[in-house]
Amino acid sequence: LPDPDVVGLTGADVAALLPRPAAESDKYRRGVVGVVAGSDQYTGAAVLAVGGALLAGAGMVRYAGPGEPVAQVRSRWPEAVITELERPSLDGVGRVQAWVVGPGLGTGDWAREMLAQVLASDVPVLIDADGLTLVARERDLLGRDAPVLVTPHAGELSRLTGAGRDEIEADRLKHARGAAADLGVTVLLKGSTTVVAEPDRPVRVNGTGTAWLATGGTGDVLSGVAGALLAQGLGCYDAGSCAAYLHGLAGRIASSGAPLHAAGVAAAVPAAIRELTGRS
Ligand code: AMP
Ligand code: MG
Repeated sequence: LPDPDVVGLTGADVAALLPRPAAESDKYRRGVVGVVAGSDQYTGAAVLAVGGALLAGAGMVRYAGPGEPVAQVRSRWPEAVITELERPSLDGVGRVQAWVVGPGLGTGDWAREMLAQVLASDVPVLIDADGLTLVARERDLLGRDAPVLVTPHAGELSRLTGAGRDEIEADRLKHARGAAADLGVTVLLKGSTTVVAEPDRPVRVNGTGTAWLATGGTGDVLSGVAGALLAQGLGCYDAGSCAAYLHGLAGRIASSGAPLHAAGVAAAVPAAIRELTGRS
């Protein structure tokens, strides 16, 4: 018998949920995403997360980081509004409607301070990658009123909950549900299928992807895509599941049965949206 607490989204479901610009929209009301990602060591994660957010339809993307990733983001995405940081502070970065924090950020004092400041805001926050390592060390960081979406792969979820990686892989639904309940957040567990769990909701399972997505940087693109949907007003559950669907479809478009690279997945996100919603 099918489990009534597990559902899949169809393309029509996603098309109905995806925000579209109203005739009178302006860039601020279309959704401003803030990205806190990348470090002098890992610059690509910043470029990929910003790209995912821009190409998933954000009205504006603000990026804040140190010199090296700033140089990379600036040259790759002239559309982004950039603040180069001398110290870990969000003062002067400007208002955003959702934050994406963690990809390539590092796990030292600078990263911890940036994460804490992002979480002290009153808007939805998506935490990925190094941000999850910091939260695993310091659970109290999650104590906030505004929504949190975490996007671990099995290894990152293992650090968060203490369950073994193999245990998680053996029952991904159970572990995503359990983590959502324990942490009081929405959990998007990545892997060959992606599952999205939120307390008191059926788990949504997505299988639009392709195994070619198992390559460096694709998770960073996903966090940007989901951040754009959060900033446009979707809740964590809908933003996470629609982002997983779109990212998988973009992966298929970018791949067509051959290797893809993460930047190509970001570039294919508009085609994925067009495929779902038509050309209007
Ligand atoms: P990350 O683990 O952060 O690098 O993200 C990897 C991305 O690729 C996630 O969106 C995964 O769901 C996706 N992915 C990884 N392996 C597979 C696979 N075997 N089949 C489909 N998607 C995958
Ligand atoms: Mg990752």
